[in-house]
Amino acid sequence: MKVLVINCGSSSLKYQVLDMTNESVLAKGLVERIGMDGAVLKHEKAGVDEKFVLETPMKDHKDAIANVLDAVVDGEHGVVADIKEIGAVGHRVVHAGEKYASSVVVTEQVIKDLEDCIELAPLHNPPNLQGIAACEEILPGIPQVAVFDTAFHQTMPPESYIYAIPYDYYTNYGIRRYGFHGTSHKYVSERAADILGVNLNDLKLITCHLGNGASVSAIKRGKCIDTSMGFTPLAGLVMGTRSGSIDPAIISFISDKEGISADEVVDILNKKSGMLGVSGISSDFRDIGEAVEQGNERAELALKVFAHQVRFYIGAYIAEMNGVDAIVFTAGVGENDIDTRDIICQELGNLGIKLDLVKNKVRGKETVISRDDSKVSILLIPTNEELVIARDTYELTK
Ligand code: ADP
Repeated sequence: MKVLVINCGSSSLKYQVLDMTNESVLAKGLVERIGMDGAVLKHEKAGVDEKFVLETPMKDHKDAIANVLDAVVDGEHGVVADIKEIGAVGHRVVHAGEKYASSVVVTEQVIKDLEDCIELAPLHNPPNLQGIAACEEILPGIPQVAVFDTAFHQTMPPESYIYAIPYDYYTNYGIRRYGFHGTSHKYVSERAADILGVNLNDLKLITCHLGNGASVSAIKRGKCIDTSMGFTPLAGLVMGTRSGSIDPAIISFISDKEGISADEVVDILNKKSGMLGVSGISSDFRDIGEAVEQGNERAELALKVFAHQVRFYIGAYIAEMNGVDAIVFTAGVGENDIDTRDIICQELGNLGIKLDLVKNKVRGKETVISRDDSKVSILLIPTNEELVIARDTYELTK
């Protein structure tokens, strides 16, 4: 069976077609600038170097998905002879609130539940739902599955997810820690158990998903017991442009000083803070790394603040789990940034966490990067959220 995986953002859409008989990726691509001038689809067929690029107006996600399906069945660039070969579609959906703790086949009730969650994820759930609606129209009768960023974190105990604010805000408005990147934390934790040759039920893991957005999770016996993102993805670690957790009183203070609304301050915390805000240079760790080499002090400070935060969560989660067997690095920065991994792991030796500086000189490859005498294993595991979505979709619909 072939599965189409779709990840709809507000103006972009990523997709993959996988053959589930051997979990191989047949094609993948990206549509950008949906609903804007200059909309473009970039499609890659496995084993073919040259990308197929289509520049054509796409007014909404339905137009984008129609073009994706045309590319998937195209005589030259396509990977299926007939669209009916696509047995199911798996969608990444950001927020399922407390409604779903695992992936689910999309029904009218599921769509209603996800619409109820829009107020929790106003930027993310609407495009996810548009993608589902578009597929229902263009591919009628083909089952669709929703895979949620929040689902894996639903195993957290109340002491991890309850904020110490009036309890009615939780019961009335659903204000609690939800956590995100769940599909990635789940995938790398399962791979870690395979690589270590130990049953997941016997492991205490700390998984560090360090990308443009970043989060750390504590995973005990295969279940998430805590994670650094919160009610929204703004909480926790310092990120590319997001502040991570700050003293909440800062919001009204900035609002008074700058004469702007609380919403505008939160927008600054989301888009102009983090590595960009501290360094004044860029949100991208490659630019930060270059600036550090040229002696830029603010870039160096940003990197130190980031590493301090990651260490902070590693320490906290070791305390919460009363130990740790392995620490996993994944996502853009975690998989590729040798220096940042090095800085994070410095001064953790007394906790039994020792990075091998030679083994650490690697990018984007599944491997162990701790020293042989390190009590705690340190692993580099490239994440693969699309594969998790495809597997869940296949399992629920085969
Ligand atoms: P997201 O999915 O959250 O948008 P990614 O996981 O793709 O983000 O991570 C993107 C980030 O990874 C980039 O902004 C950059 O900071 C970092 N990154 C990617 N490649 C490298 C590299 N070779 N060296 C250092 N950092 C890198």
